[in-house]
Amino acid sequence: MPIYEYHCSDCGKDFEILVFKSDEKVTCPECKSEKVERLLSGFAHKCDGPMVSSSGGGCSSCSGGSCSSCH
Ligand SMILES: [Zn+2]
Repeated sequence: MPIYEYHCSDCGKDFEILVFKSDEKVTCPECKSEKVERLLSGFAHKCDGPMVSSSGGGCSSCSGGSCSSCH
């Protein structure tokens, strides 16, 4: 299941939500606004640092064996 980052247009808060359905309505946990934007940087923060494997190019968060989709 993908975790998406969102940015609230009302209060400016950035937050992450586990999205079960792509059309699921997302609201800001701070102000309950529905004016949120999905950010594209989904998994990036989990793939930085020394967790990257030296053998395959994937990291612990990239089950597919490639970091190309998470950097
Ligand atoms: Zn908000």
